[in-house]
Amino acid sequence: MATLKRPQPRFDVLKIPVIGPLLRWRWGRLVFQTILLLIAVLLLYDGFTGPQFAPENLSTVVTWIHYRGIIVFGFLLLGNIFCMGCPFTIPRTLAKRLAINGGRWPAFLRNKWLAIGLLFGFFWAYEYFDLFASPLLTVWIIAGYFVASFFLEAIFSESVFCKYVCPLGTFNFVSSTVSPVQISVESRDVCSTCPGKECINGTTQMGTVDRPVKQGQGTISLDSIQVLGCGTELFAPQIESNLDCTMCLDCVRACPHENVILSVRNPLKETSEGAWPQRWDISILVLVFAFSALGNAFGMVGPVFELEAALANGLNVQDEALPLLIIFGVTNLILPIGLGLLAAWLSRAIANRTESLRITLARFVPSLAPLAFSIWLAHYGGFHFLGSAATVFPVFRNFMWDHNWFFLGPPDWTRAAVLPINWLDPLEMVTILIGLLASLYVLNERGKRAPNKRDGMLVQLPWMLILVGLTLASFWIFYLPMEMRGVAFTG
Ligand code: SF4
Ligand code: SF4
Repeated sequence: MATLKRPQPRFDVLKIPVIGPLLRWRWGRLVFQTILLLIAVLLLYDGFTGPQFAPENLSTVVTWIHYRGIIVFGFLLLGNIFCMGCPFTIPRTLAKRLAINGGRWPAFLRNKWLAIGLLFGFFWAYEYFDLFASPLLTVWIIAGYFVASFFLEAIFSESVFCKYVCPLGTFNFVSSTVSPVQISVESRDVCSTCPGKECINGTTQMGTVDRPVKQGQGTISLDSIQVLGCGTELFAPQIESNLDCTMCLDCVRACPHENVILSVRNPLKETSEGAWPQRWDISILVLVFAFSALGNAFGMVGPVFELEAALANGLNVQDEALPLLIIFGVTNLILPIGLGLLAAWLSRAIANRTESLRITLARFVPSLAPLAFSIWLAHYGGFHFLGSAATVFPVFRNFMWDHNWFFLGPPDWTRAAVLPINWLDPLEMVTILIGLLASLYVLNERGKRAPNKRDGMLVQLPWMLILVGLTLASFWIFYLPMEMRGVAFTG
């Protein structure tokens, strides 16, 4: 007799004492956002009025060392914590509270193409304008983010800034696909009979209402409930991926049945199972994300400066804009798209299938995500954060001293690294090797899930070559002397 398969019990972060109630709390996210908003205000103040030498200014040090380092460690341990606390989305809540509800984002922009273009533009601008070296430009970007997010959130009815525009959000969405937590529901049966689907629609009930606690457990009376539904229009019972989830937890607070959970999962589950839509834009985004990890690090080593000079010479231009555009165009767009399509074509030919190239590409592209994330982690988390995060202490001390707020004595500029500098290279290599192993595991799992027949080693070979190539190229780049940006003295 066939036995019914019981659903696997999942660990729910929202059930952890203190943390769970805090995350569920109606104002929990706003408190987190307010803390980050205050930090953003501090950065704006120091960026506009403080020393314009980047290693001595809070705006450049915190933005380019701490923000990037903390978010990559966040993905690894907790998920998309920056989007959760993102102060740029406070305008969304404000716009909705002010009842500024606009139209829908145009259909032709409801994809990741614009986000891919902006992500590419952001990496190019970061190098071309030396953003890491300019407090003023850094804070103009922060200010621009606030303005752009407010107008887009106010003009359109959904969270279009997060979902379709924000380059940081785009980076965060792809990185969080290897995170150990994901929004899910406790029971799909409860969802199937749920009339309001508040997790996506939100609730705007005002006044005293009876709110159901759980099925069969009666109701509680609350004075007012006005909770937004999912801004990026994800429907909790159907979520299988962290793509597009800002971890705002609005769905958790909106669900009247307390059915939404923040489940702990195998970090490779999402990429192994192929939870992403089989769309060109999603596959190309992941390819660009993977190769930009190398392109971004390549922008900081000696050979890129020689290449830039040679290109400028050949093109007879003084400005580095065009040479840099060509270099990044090749490393971050042409190579990933070209190699991705070639690998998909080869895999399809070896497997002797007639499916579209889009489907083959979408089947194997998730295998790049773990390795790509590990390269970003080694770069932002290892090299920059562990290599120079302690520099924030003298910079903050200098800031206080400059304003005569507290006299803490002169800053000790030799403080920079969190770990001994000679530990960083081995740590970065181990991180990337773990990423490679994780990617090979995912590749094998993706091969197993191929329709009709298992895709063997030969079908996976083109993807293995890309993974090994990315690994070797990242070893080469990371072993070259790299600019330790944002540090006055390394001590
Ligand atoms: S998650 Fe909650 S609000 Fe959404 S459909 Fe299920 S029960 Fe309804
Ligand atoms: S599913 Fe939507 S509402 Fe829920 S945490 Fe993610 S982005 Fe927020």
